[in-house]
Amino acid sequence: MLYSQVRGFRISIEVFVVSTLRDIVYENVLEGELYEKLDRNRVRCHACGHCCPIPDGQPGVCKVRYNRGGTLYVPWGYVGGVQCDPIEKKPFFHAYPGALAYSFGMLGCDLHCGYCQNWVTSQALRDPSAISPPLQASPENLVHDALHQGAKVLVSTYNEPLITSEWAVAVFKEAKAAGLLTAFVSNGNGTPQVLEYLRPWIDLYKVDLKSFDDRHYHELGGRIGPILDTIRRLHEMELWLEIVTLLIPGFNDSNDELRRLADFLVSVSPFIPWHVTAFHKDYKMSDPDDTRPDDLLRAVEIGKKAGLRYIYAGNLPGMVGDLEDTRCHNCAETLIKRHSYFIQDYRLTPDGGCPSCGTSIPGRWAAKFEGQIADRPFFPRRASRLVTILN
Ligand code: SF4
Repeated sequence: MLYSQVRGFRISIEVFVVSTLRDIVYENVLEGELYEKLDRNRVRCHACGHCCPIPDGQPGVCKVRYNRGGTLYVPWGYVGGVQCDPIEKKPFFHAYPGALAYSFGMLGCDLHCGYCQNWVTSQALRDPSAISPPLQASPENLVHDALHQGAKVLVSTYNEPLITSEWAVAVFKEAKAAGLLTAFVSNGNGTPQVLEYLRPWIDLYKVDLKSFDDRHYHELGGRIGPILDTIRRLHEMELWLEIVTLLIPGFNDSNDELRRLADFLVSVSPFIPWHVTAFHKDYKMSDPDDTRPDDLLRAVEIGKKAGLRYIYAGNLPGMVGDLEDTRCHNCAETLIKRHSYFIQDYRLTPDGGCPSCGTSIPGRWAAKFEGQIADRPFFPRRASRLVTILN
């Protein structure tokens, strides 16, 4: 990767690289669809919950959508990275277990979380250390490559996909025509406009609910209101929805905050899967301790008491008992047994029911388990059509 190659020379060349990256990002654009024109050549963007009013000549908070002459330009025609992931890594546990998720990202984010695990792509234009050379791409060659790898799902992820929704929809249209499913892995900072825009083209949606405290969201550069609203709307739209909370000791893991978060999810639906996952030191957040198994178990107990029926403990495989498995919410029969991303056993009936009591299990299920191409991420084996670095 360019980052590791240049690491030793970071001080001398980073300004050059970042300015080049900005030029590349600013040149690979198309007029956006998620905006309205205001007076004095200003525009208002509706792609994320910031709803930025953007003066002529300026970018929005995300740095990748910008106003030139009263027109909003948005990212187009490249990816910041591509990877093949087991769908369990996204994580989706109630959607086509074992499927391969062909995952692409662009650049930029509307938040700036200090613990971001995708900071090389998400903070590419904010942080001089975050260098990720974009690769030229078209919807057709992404879909072609996804099919070639054996993927069942095409996922927009790694940066915040809402801020690059126009590109995602172009890719998803092509994907759906080819019989693929589509998904967002998102911070959930949406608007009614962007969700309606995505609705016809998207099947699965993961929201990273980072906290249940608006002050914490302010520290990350957002507000909790649009995120909770997005979760409610996604459920009403009947998109398949799973929620993840990365449990960060001392930041979002108090009993009170977790109780309020779980109560909120139950108020939307007790059947929404909730993944509580373990934090490890990353990016700028190196102060908190790593999350321990006991912290996850405490959060799971709080979720259970609140009434959530499907709760998973993630990122500590083999250390959380049976909390990687899916069990029937009616009779507790084990339906899917997992170790990390590996499916060890799959017992759902062809119509997605419990073989023991017949209860229908919430989710999107294939008629039968089709095995796993991979239980860990890999780079596409033949991505030759994607490897042109823009310059
Ligand atoms: S995507 Fe969000 S942050 Fe970016 S310009 Fe639009 S409203 Fe602002």
